[in-house]
Amino acid sequence: MFSSITLKNRLSVKLPPLKWSNWYLIALKIAMGALLVLLIALFAVLYESDAEERRATLIADVLWLEQTFNFHLEGHADLLQQLVSDLTHEKDKKELFRVRSQYLLKNFPDILQVIWFDASGKVQQKAPAIMLPRLGGEMTDGDAQNQALEMAKRLGKLTYSDAYSTPAGPQFEMYTPVLVEGAYRGSIVVVYSVSGILKTLVPWWFAEKYQIRIMDSDGSELARKSKVTNANTTLSYSIPFEPPGYGLVLRVDAYRGSSSFVEILLTTLVIGLATSVLLSLWVMRGHVRRRIAAEQAHRSEYAFRKAMEESLTVGMRAKNLEGFITYVNPAFCQMVGFTEEELIGVGPLMPYWDPNLMEQNVAITEAAVQGRAPREGAEVRLMRKDGSRFDALVYEAPLIDADGNHNGWMASVVDVTARKRAEDLARQQQEKLQATSRLVTMGEMASSLAHELNQPLAAITSYTAGCLNRLESGAFSSAELKEALGKLAVQAQRAGRIIRRVHDFVRKSEPKLAPCNLVEIIDDSVGLMESTSKLVNVRITREIELYPRELMGDRVMLEQVLLNLLRNAIEAMSGSGIGQERRVLTVRLVQPDDQQVQIHVVDRGSGIPREIQENLFTPFFTTKASGMGMGLNICRSIIEFHRGRLWFEENPEGGTVFIISLPVIKP
Ligand code: ADP
Repeated sequence: MFSSITLKNRLSVKLPPLKWSNWYLIALKIAMGALLVLLIALFAVLYESDAEERRATLIADVLWLEQTFNFHLEGHADLLQQLVSDLTHEKDKKELFRVRSQYLLKNFPDILQVIWFDASGKVQQKAPAIMLPRLGGEMTDGDAQNQALEMAKRLGKLTYSDAYSTPAGPQFEMYTPVLVEGAYRGSIVVVYSVSGILKTLVPWWFAEKYQIRIMDSDGSELARKSKVTNANTTLSYSIPFEPPGYGLVLRVDAYRGSSSFVEILLTTLVIGLATSVLLSLWVMRGHVRRRIAAEQAHRSEYAFRKAMEESLTVGMRAKNLEGFITYVNPAFCQMVGFTEEELIGVGPLMPYWDPNLMEQNVAITEAAVQGRAPREGAEVRLMRKDGSRFDALVYEAPLIDADGNHNGWMASVVDVTARKRAEDLARQQQEKLQATSRLVTMGEMASSLAHELNQPLAAITSYTAGCLNRLESGAFSSAELKEALGKLAVQAQRAGRIIRRVHDFVRKSEPKLAPCNLVEIIDDSVGLMESTSKLVNVRITREIELYPRELMGDRVMLEQVLLNLLRNAIEAMSGSGIGQERRVLTVRLVQPDDQQVQIHVVDRGSGIPREIQENLFTPFFTTKASGMGMGLNICRSIIEFHRGRLWFEENPEGGTVFIISLPVIKP
């Protein structure tokens, strides 16, 4: 058989490629790419919306913090306004200031100092008593401090100073003017620590999420609060820190919060799943490719098989184990005249079986099912759809599927009608030829037979004449007459036997095998040949070594063979160069083994020259002027008809030995 690879190579060129598979692969690739892009986009969108949310939260938190600062400072402003108002009415102003300032310092850690200036800018009173760096001395014109004080005095309302650095940290001040009936009587100054404000007002949870810084106008940091150091900040938001103003900025940076466990788990899972999906798609791609290749090979094989099947002249028919037809090829349909549709699914009895031979068909089918189908095929007579009959040779074989299971029967059916007709014709011609050849043999033997017949006829004549003479003379005894008539009868029988042999021999009959005795055949043949042999002084001897069993054969045909060999032998010894001592023809019957019997026709004639040995059995080959050259050819076909063999060997004593070997078949 052809390997599928060679088959593929041979046929793949002719077959169009599978279009759907190309599209399928392209679609798969596009789907894989789209999935990848979508995943990336999904992550980007998620990240973006997360960042947006964080930013919104940051802004809201910063605004809340700013509001907290404002409330805090406004609260202080209210308290100081109350103190200013109380100071104008209270008699013991010093005590009042002391109590209130202590209250402020105690409750608000961001307040470093509270100072009371009179209208001339001198310190009336302060708490704590020590002076902080900037407010350490008396006021002098041109000081920043004085400027703030002046502004409060001029505006007559609460003002703030700018922020400034001190060794203890950055500070700023809040100035509340003391006005009595619209006249300026001094100011209450509250000194704030910038970091103190952050420390007091920024709650712990805020500091954990953000880094909060207060920067001055030139961008340098004044104070900060954060719980985390050196953490990356991704988002930041700044708003003016008012009051006090003066370009101060509140800047809040969001820490990149470590992602939650669930978030990490989900992301890992999504990436893992996407990777495994992509991987499995990749594997699928390989699988699909292999499938396509297999399909292509399968298609090629199918196309090859189909082409082969359609070119077959042998009918193919498959049946399942239940005997129903599962497949027929076009040749089979053509043979029986039924269409594939009419045959598929049909079970016994089949429509193409000859109704008169149903039993034979059933028997053949049963034999096949039991595994007894003859190797050389079963010959059956089938019927076409139009009712005409034809002879077919059916070879049944088990149908084995890919898993090695026996699932039905496959038969190849050969229409042998034409072959049988040709065989019949050849057989008839052969018979005619054999008959003709026998007639020719007889024609050739006519003179010797006439001579042989002459003897008994002459004897009969003389016995009859003798009897008549006695009867006429009247001198006879019945015993004498009886004896003479007995001899006469013997001679008549002898003549009759000769005529019967001739008649049997030339009678045209169909070859038929029947039990026959080889000794009788030899006797008859030698008997027929004896007169001919005598004419050329050849003596025929018989050597029957054993008495063989009867075998199945056609007596006349075997006689014809023997007669031909005897005649050839006699002719080979009738030449002038052969002395009398060599003119002995021996017919020997031997049984070398249980299987065969052999008849040896041994002559001591001229022998067969090497150059003509090869052509001896060829039709019309002869070395004789009057020969036909058909004798040995017919002899061989007759012996082969008997499933035997005919050949010749050189006789070591000179001459030739023709050997007929016949199988011993019990009758
Ligand atoms: P035919 O006898 O008509 O020639 P055969 O076919 O019987 O045809 O024989 C063919 C040839 O074989 C003969 O012409 C003869 O030359 C040769 N031949 C046959 N038998 C013998 C034999 N016993 N000895 C020598 N030659 C033989």
